[in-house]
Amino acid sequence: MNSTAADISAMENDLSALSPAAANFLPKRHKMIIDGQATDAATGETFAVVDPTSGQEIARVPQAEAVDIDTAVNAARRAFESGPWPRMKPSERERVMLKLADLLERDAVAFSEIESVNSGRTVPNARAFDVDLSVDYLRYMAGWATKIRGETFSPSVPYVPGANFFSYTLREPVGVVAAITPWNVPLGQAIWKVAPVLATGCTMVLKPAEQTPLTALRFGALLEEAGLPPGVVNIVTGFGETAGAALIEHPGVDKIAFTGSTQVGHMIAAAAATTLKRYTLELGGKSAMIVMPDADPEITIPGTAMAIFGNHGQNCCAGSRLYVHRDIFDSIVEGVINFAEGIRLGPALRADTDMGPLVSWKQRERVLGYIESGVSEGAELLTGGHGATEHGAYVQPTVLGNVRQDMQVVQEEIFGPVLVATPFDDLDDAVRQANATKYGLGASIWARDVQLVHSLIPRLQAGTVWVNTHNILDLAVPFGGVKSSGIGRELGEEAIRHHTELKTVTMAI
Ligand code: ADP
Repeated sequence: MNSTAADISAMENDLSALSPAAANFLPKRHKMIIDGQATDAATGETFAVVDPTSGQEIARVPQAEAVDIDTAVNAARRAFESGPWPRMKPSERERVMLKLADLLERDAVAFSEIESVNSGRTVPNARAFDVDLSVDYLRYMAGWATKIRGETFSPSVPYVPGANFFSYTLREPVGVVAAITPWNVPLGQAIWKVAPVLATGCTMVLKPAEQTPLTALRFGALLEEAGLPPGVVNIVTGFGETAGAALIEHPGVDKIAFTGSTQVGHMIAAAAATTLKRYTLELGGKSAMIVMPDADPEITIPGTAMAIFGNHGQNCCAGSRLYVHRDIFDSIVEGVINFAEGIRLGPALRADTDMGPLVSWKQRERVLGYIESGVSEGAELLTGGHGATEHGAYVQPTVLGNVRQDMQVVQEEIFGPVLVATPFDDLDDAVRQANATKYGLGASIWARDVQLVHSLIPRLQAGTVWVNTHNILDLAVPFGGVKSSGIGRELGEEAIRHHTELKTVTMAI
């Protein structure tokens, strides 16, 4: 596909449209936050952060190595062992968290724009999922700080007749948490990790993805203003194989909270085995959407289309496999194709853009490679299939038909706007196909027959089953995967459980 110079500039962000706060922040040479101090990497090395609409450098950040990770973990350790944070009254921690939420809300425009330029997602998308939800999650988790509690027991202890005992449990902070986050919803993912750490009185080192570190660093600038003691939240920037690997292996870390690829999830489980660190893993997905013959097309067509094309398909729980009953397959798939063709690709900052570029040129190549592999194995390209320009990391919303279960495009997580569509003949066939990947993050059922829906839910291997909707997450509702999609749950009370250890106390009375 040939692009003219005019096409190319039309697909690049116009950075002069940024608010002064975002424009002033972006071009800086940024620093990490370690022990409350703005800190360079020990080597002084930095790396570039780019705008995926143009491939242009927009900022530079420190390139942390093992030595910097050591400094950051030691700061978190000191803050945990002897700092005020874990010893503060829960209501004091709650107040600091509420202040942090207020500050994030105050600077919402700058955060949304910085995230949009860096990640390629539109400003309203970044505003909703990185900023507004993060503000809400800090407030939600602030409420938990005062509600962490154990249980009481009246033990019988039959082998000590005549004696009486009383037992209770305490929920104590798990300790120093290493949080490693991906680039798809950068600030949102970071706050999913930060909020339960703060509520439970833990301390942490956060390493955002190397592609999208800017909003985490901007968030770091709010910590002191909110009254957070130094060393409680340390933010380091660096590459996965170096900074990330040093963090997961560090003996000063008590728990790893990771969101990212299943491949790195395996490495974390292996690294944790030597010290029995705790870990929660939110990994890849290949979520199935099952459309029954009685499904309402008015809901199902836009719902399933947005399940894959929302956030450019860069969602771990994206509905990337569509299974439709053969009776309505053609009409549903045609509707989804029309929806895809109506999506306006363009630069993230432009108000009439529905979908920006993918996060990076590398990700664009990866996604296009998957599409090519599907087509070469016999899949039919029903729409899309190309980068929209030779410039910028754009990929057209794509639907593939005529796929087989053994194809890579059906089995592997593409993490881009690519849907595979397959007809099914009966419910057993649908369930068999839906469960036939190594993943188990989400699944959705599109149907009106409530009894059928209830009978289907237990048969699906997934951490979340949606009905007549997809990708709906709430801060109070646990989220996570089964099979190779992860271990543990984020959000809600589950996040509190995963950041605390139970201590049992038994006393003779
Ligand atoms: P993706 O392929 O989508 O970038 P990754 O799992 O590679 O997913 O990245 C998610 C996060 O994991 C990023 O913050 C990245 O730096 C980090 N990461 C990548 N490789 C490693 C590793 N070997 N050890 C620890 N963290 C890693």
